[in-house]
Amino acid sequence: MDRKDLQELKTIVGEEWVSTGDSVRELHSHDESFHPWVLPDVVVWPHSTEEVSRLVRWAYDHKVPVTPWGAGTSLEGNPIPVKGGMVIDLQEMDRILEIRQGDFQVDVEAGVVYKDLNKELRRYGLFFPPDPGAAATIGGMIGNNASGIRTVKYGPTREYVLRLVVVLPGGEVIRVGNRARKSSSGYDLLRLFTGAEGTLGIVTEATLRLVGLPENFMALRATFPTVSDATDTVFQVMSSGLVPSAMEFLDAEVVKVLNRDRELELEESPTLLMEFDGYSEEGLKAEMAFVEGICRENRSLLIDKGIGPDERNRLWEIRHLTFESIKRAHPGLEPLIMDVAVPLSRYSEMVAFVKEEVSDLTAYLFGHAGDGNIHVVVMDRPGDEARWRRVQEANRRVVLKALELEGTCTGEHGVGIGKREFAAREHGEALEVMKRIKETLDPHGLMNPGKIFP
Ligand SMILES: Cc1cc2nc3c(=O)[nH]c(=O)nc-3n(C[C@H](O)[C@H](O)[C@H](O)COP(=O)(O)OP(=O)(O)OC[C@H]3O[C@@H](n4cnc5c(N)ncnc54)[C@H](O)[C@@H]3O)c2cc1C
Repeated sequence: MDRKDLQELKTIVGEEWVSTGDSVRELHSHDESFHPWVLPDVVVWPHSTEEVSRLVRWAYDHKVPVTPWGAGTSLEGNPIPVKGGMVIDLQEMDRILEIRQGDFQVDVEAGVVYKDLNKELRRYGLFFPPDPGAAATIGGMIGNNASGIRTVKYGPTREYVLRLVVVLPGGEVIRVGNRARKSSSGYDLLRLFTGAEGTLGIVTEATLRLVGLPENFMALRATFPTVSDATDTVFQVMSSGLVPSAMEFLDAEVVKVLNRDRELELEESPTLLMEFDGYSEEGLKAEMAFVEGICRENRSLLIDKGIGPDERNRLWEIRHLTFESIKRAHPGLEPLIMDVAVPLSRYSEMVAFVKEEVSDLTAYLFGHAGDGNIHVVVMDRPGDEARWRRVQEANRRVVLKALELEGTCTGEHGVGIGKREFAAREHGEALEVMKRIKETLDPHGLMNPGKIFP
């Protein structure tokens, strides 16, 4: 990029919102994954849809690749600017525009961090349920169709998107969706842009559906003699008709690392964490008794339980610490995080396969069990070619098994760079249709190139 190019970008967003500095480019060259860093040529911070539109139009005219950037917390290389060019960082567009309490809706700019949004919504007795844990932006969550521990009851991001403002790869601005609670009108472009990983356009604003904050919580931690006792319990609870608001599995190795890192004294066995929310304590107590029965039928060793937000926080704290504790236990090693999902009836089979597959690796298995979603954090050295090849081979075999069980190569982290090789196997002929959509909207392949497609 020459001086004239940079001057043109500065005319659009202002002098201080364009940077070619090394540290800024470095910060925007990688996400939270192990995928190789690639420096963009320039980073820009727009403040309005109009500025985004002018930047994208400029890039289109100059054939410069564009990569949208939320907070860079992805785990599959999704926002890495693999072809260089311009990174458009949306973090300055972080206004909560309007909360419509009576409609259970909020209008936000794409750079709002969902945790900040939920802090604000709490005052209105509302919340936005998808919760990926990291400090993600709404734009990045829409990009990846993120989900989290409450998806088992409340669904992924996609189910909360009512209306979007999107800048297409040529710079045109479109408005998609409406504020009605339901609609049968036309093709569902909301679903097309949600989960597109920024390859079809840049979301600048969204109207999100919200949910009332539950009045009460019940939480339960149960340990089991074997992994299959725990995973069978998952299937039985989920198929009983009860709807937990969270249902997580932790392998014994995860509990061990938590004990060591946090000086806890938890039983080092396969563990399930569950949460139920609702309005009456009596209702929750009845559900708890029913769930306890299922746990005992599956030889549960210990059940620790409680009602109310404090008890919920006590029992759930360990889950929020998991990733950090694993990383801290292995200084100098890097994580590869596997992420597959299968139908619930195949969850036990999938987990057993994964355990066997990673048995010779430094691996920690956990996941959003109620969604049939499994994560394995494998700690190793990407620099050690032979070892890293073994780690990637394990990842590959786990994905192929998930596909064989009619699951998906990614439950929530997206395809990014890491899962592209599985796209054809997962989508078959439908991948061709996806390519045609991409070519129609982005004929020069400038919008977040090198992602999703093999
Ligand atoms: C410790 C940890 C735990 C995590 N746990 C979960 C989890 O439980 N569930 C889960 O789903 N994810 C999880 N993630 C992954 C990640 O946090 C989510 O995918 C998150 O939604 C990414 O948001 P972001 O703002 O960081 O987006 P980025 O990483 O910056 O971008 C994500 C993708 O969206 C695109 N994009 C960004 N902004 C826009 C926009 N405005 N318009 C269009 N496209 C855009 C980017 O180009 C990229 O392809 C975790 C990550 C970490 C580090």
